[in-house]
Amino acid sequence: MSRIAIIGVGYVGLTTSAALAHLGHQVVAADVDRPKIDLLDSGVIPIVETGLLELVTEQRQVGRLTFAFMAGEVVAEAEFVFLCVPTPQAGDGSADLTYVTEAARQIGPHLETGAVVVNKSTVPVGSVDIVSTALGRADVWVVSNPEFLREGRAVYDCLNPDRIVIGSSDRIVGRRVAALYDGLDAPVVLTDPASAETVKYACNAFLATKVSFINEVANLCQAVGADVGDVVVGMGLDRRIGADHLKPGPGWGGSCFPKDTNALVRIAADHGYDFALVRGAIVANDAQFVRVADRVAAVSGGDLDGVQVGVWGLTFKAGTDDLRDSPSLAVIAHLRSRGARVLAYDPTHPDPGHDLLAPLGVEVVADLYAACDGSECIVILTEWPEFATADFTRVASVLGAPVTATAALRSGLDLSERDQRRSGRPAIVDARNLVDPAAVTTAGCRYEGIGRR
Ligand code: NAD
Repeated sequence: MSRIAIIGVGYVGLTTSAALAHLGHQVVAADVDRPKIDLLDSGVIPIVETGLLELVTEQRQVGRLTFAFMAGEVVAEAEFVFLCVPTPQAGDGSADLTYVTEAARQIGPHLETGAVVVNKSTVPVGSVDIVSTALGRADVWVVSNPEFLREGRAVYDCLNPDRIVIGSSDRIVGRRVAALYDGLDAPVVLTDPASAETVKYACNAFLATKVSFINEVANLCQAVGADVGDVVVGMGLDRRIGADHLKPGPGWGGSCFPKDTNALVRIAADHGYDFALVRGAIVANDAQFVRVADRVAAVSGGDLDGVQVGVWGLTFKAGTDDLRDSPSLAVIAHLRSRGARVLAYDPTHPDPGHDLLAPLGVEVVADLYAACDGSECIVILTEWPEFATADFTRVASVLGAPVTATAALRSGLDLSERDQRRSGRPAIVDARNLVDPAAVTTAGCRYEGIGRR
C-alpha cells in the first residue's frame, strides 16, 4: 500500500484516484474547483462515466479514498503525487502547460524528500524537466506515466489497460511507479521520459489518422457507389489493420485528439520536422465537418438560410457528457453560420447556458422527438443507442412541412421552387451510420448515411 495524492479530479484524475484506491492504495484527490469537491464529498459524481459512482462509493466507504480542496499541503504525506490537470491547446497549437506548472509550484514546497511526482496529464517531450524546475526541488523525482483511458469506458480502461507506460531517468524509481499497478494484468513499458511522452502523442495521432482515413474511404464509397460498412468489415478483419477506430462519422473530436494532434505537429515543427501526415489528418477532419453540413444543406434544398434542423447528439461520443471539441458542435457551428435554426437533443441534457453551447445559439430540447418538431431534417451526430431505436413513424409525423413554408418565405424563395429542390420527403442525415435505413425509409423519410449504400 502506498500513500498517493492526485492533483486534478477530472475525467482522468477521478478515475485514476478510484482505480488506485481499488488497488489498495491510500488516496487523497484534490482539486481547485470547490463545488466539485463538495459534490464528491456528498457522494455525487460530477461526470457521466459508467461504473465510476460504484467504484468511488466503495473506496470512500472502505476509507481508502478522500477528497480535498486543493492546497499544497495535500501532498505532505504522499509518496507519489499524480498530476492530472488540463493541458489545453495554446494559441500556437502547442500544449499549454500553465495548469501543470502552476500545480507543480503549489505542491513543490510541501513534498517529502524522495517523493515521486508522476505526470499523468498529456504533456510534450521535455515536460519532466519543466515540472522538475517548477517544483523547485532537487530531492524529488519526476516520472512520466501517460494515461490512455477512453471516456465512457474510463473505469474499465483504468482497471484493464492494454499497457502501462512509464518514462523515468531512474530505473528503480520507474519500477516503483510500475509497482503501484501490481494487481493489474498489463505489460509495463519502462522507458525514458521523452519516449513515454512521445508514445502518448503518437497513439492519439495514429488513432485520429485512422478515423480520418476511414472517413475518407467512406467519402470515396459515396462517390463510387460502394458500401463502407462492407469495406470496414473487409478491412477490419485484416489483423494488421483491425476493426477498432474504423467507424466513419462526422469527424473526430473530444478533449484529446484535436489538441494532441495539433501539439504533435507543433512539437515536430519545433524540432525541425514537418509531420505532414498528421497535418493531413487534421485538414481532412475539418473538411469532414463541412461535408456533413453540406449534406444537411443538400437535403434541405441547397441552402440553409432560415431552415430548421434537428440535431441528435451533442457530446463528442456516446457514453460521456463531455462536449469539449465535439464534432457535433463543429457541425452545428457550420449549420448556424449558414443561417439554420438548430434544435438539439442529447441524452445527457446539457445546460443550454454551457460555455460551449451558448455561443452557438443552439436550442436544447428535452427529447429526440422535440428536435424533430417542425424541422426539415434530422442529423445524427453522436452514436447514442436510443437514436437507433427511435420510433421513425413518430419522427416522420413531426418532421417536415410547416417550417419549410416559413423558411421559403424567409429566404424569399417560391415555396414550390424550394419544394422542387428538396426531395419532398423529410430526411435523416445519419452521420454515424447508426440507424437501420429501412426503418427510416419505411416510415416515409429519406435516409442519407456516410458512404452507405
Ligand atoms: P479535466 O478538465 O476533466 O480535469 C482537470 C481537473 O484539474 C479539473 O477538475 C480542474 O479543476 C483541475 N485543476 C486545474 N488546475 C489545478 C490545480 N492547480 N490543482 C488542482 N486541480 C487543478 O481534464 P481531463 O480530461 O481529466 O484531462 C486531464 C489530463 O489528462 C489532460 O492532460 C488530458 O490531455 C489527459 N488525458 C485525458 C483523457 C480523457 O479522456 N479525458 C485521456 C487521457 C489523458
